[in-house]
Amino acid sequence: MNSLNKVQSHLLAECFNKLFIGGQFVDAIDGKKISTYYPATGDFLHEFPRGKANDVDAAVAAAEAAWEEGTWAGMSAAERADIVTKMAQGIEDNIEMLAEIEAADVGKPYRQAAMTLGGAAGEGKYWCSLGKVLDAEQDVPVNSGGGEGGVPPAEWDVVYRRDPIGVIGLISAWNYPMNVAFRKVAPALIAGNCAILKPSEIAGLSCMFIGKLAQDAGIPPGVFNVVTGDRDAGAALAASPSVSMISFTGSTLTGSKIMGACAPKLSQVALELGGKSALVVFDDTDLDKAVETTMKGFLTNGGQICTAHTRLVVQDGIEARLLNKLKEELEKLPFCNDPITEKDRGDRAWEDGMTDVVQPVVCESQHKKIMGFLNGAKAAGVEVLTGGDVPDDATVGNSGGYFIQPTVLINVERDADVWQKEVFGPVLSVRSFSTEDDAVLEANSTSFGLASTVMSSDPAKAMRVANRIRAGAVFATSTGEGLLAEHPAVSRGGFGCSGVGRELGIGGLHEYTELKSVNYTGFSLADAKKKHTG
Ligand code: NAD
Repeated sequence: MNSLNKVQSHLLAECFNKLFIGGQFVDAIDGKKISTYYPATGDFLHEFPRGKANDVDAAVAAAEAAWEEGTWAGMSAAERADIVTKMAQGIEDNIEMLAEIEAADVGKPYRQAAMTLGGAAGEGKYWCSLGKVLDAEQDVPVNSGGGEGGVPPAEWDVVYRRDPIGVIGLISAWNYPMNVAFRKVAPALIAGNCAILKPSEIAGLSCMFIGKLAQDAGIPPGVFNVVTGDRDAGAALAASPSVSMISFTGSTLTGSKIMGACAPKLSQVALELGGKSALVVFDDTDLDKAVETTMKGFLTNGGQICTAHTRLVVQDGIEARLLNKLKEELEKLPFCNDPITEKDRGDRAWEDGMTDVVQPVVCESQHKKIMGFLNGAKAAGVEVLTGGDVPDDATVGNSGGYFIQPTVLINVERDADVWQKEVFGPVLSVRSFSTEDDAVLEANSTSFGLASTVMSSDPAKAMRVANRIRAGAVFATSTGEGLLAEHPAVSRGGFGCSGVGRELGIGGLHEYTELKSVNYTGFSLADAKKKHTG
């Protein structure tokens, strides 16, 4: 059995072939399908239901019925978390199968998929640990203090609560399918909401397994639903009058459309969008570490990561040496022609770098889009230090895949598309600077603000620059170690066109709640509680 056949045998399971609505696996009403292909060869991988607006309506109705019935929202957050823990455990128990599916669907090396799926399971358990924290936040006396008159009148018995929002739409991207989706599913459910997940049509097969996890964990019917489909299904979900919030991860353009769809009904949005992160390298940085960090920053997951550091802002004193070494290292990298079996190449400590192979990009349309950026840049006279093209089949070791050479563009103008727009592929744009002020100016010179990194051996300088960078997550480092790593307790999100709201941390759970104050007067809170529980 070849590697693709093995993945196809996993995909025979019901959950990878049906929608999950009202606790049941069901066919799409119109019976339409979406086909998906293995990025390393372009071979057919699988077909799955193309849910439409009528399927979205059915899922919303199931979620609404579960919300109105009230069992899920009526449980304590800790009780809900106990159930969601089983789902997180289910990811952990099935890592090998899910990693093979993500390797085949996204084209990422198996070992990287396995590592990030482990991260999704671990993060799920973190969310579950917050169940008790959320319970402890219910009926907490308001005593914010601070400033003159900052405490409510003594005769008020006023408390805060955090209520679930209601029926929520979760729309996710394809680059880390399970991570992006489960980062929404777990907090949305623990907070007491009912949800509909709409995974990406480009690569969302692993997300279909979440329906099975919910069923096996005993989530009540309708509380969690999965509708696969394309942008029409996403648009129907965002526009549904019964959906009170959309939590979205994807491109900035789609984010703004979703905001537009939610505006007439004033439903809430949480938007995790695109980025164009800068890696600022001062000339007091160790050369090898700077090169390693640059490669990891723009090549991890083939550059298809929202926080990819695709702009290098390098001080003129180290620029020539860094670019020479970078070119040399990039041209040595092998292509990964079978991500499903890419388990242990052993020629580089991949956990440190994750840049030991060049993976294909996810699909034909992304390949065209990236090559469009590169051809446009070349036509406009942008200098190519290395790459800039499609590798030949002999170099890759097979044909038909969506490969692009790792590409470095130098002396890029600040207003060039490849400096300003998210390419979402293995493409790095470089500009140099001389002073600290210039470094800040360059780092802040796009409309995005998701992440950025400052490298220097001078901690005070690194801190000064980090504090002036406009991004939701800034990394100041002399080594680059831990670049792109996330911890579930540390919130992240975007400034500017990179998003609205924050994910992760307790704030990430609060995104799925409404803050409510209840003011008890004429009787005490203690009496109210006694009667309520008694
Ligand atoms: P995309 O915007 O094309 O699609 C994302 C999802 O939105 C898909 O499920 C798609 O079907 C759906 N969709 C498309 N049009 C829609 C519409 N009009 N209404 C409702 N839903 C619609 O993004 P993508 O190509 O899947 O993902 C790549 C993008 O995601 C990049 O921009 C990347 O930076 C971003 N991303 C951001 C983060 C983050 O945390 N900030 C994480 C991962 C990816």
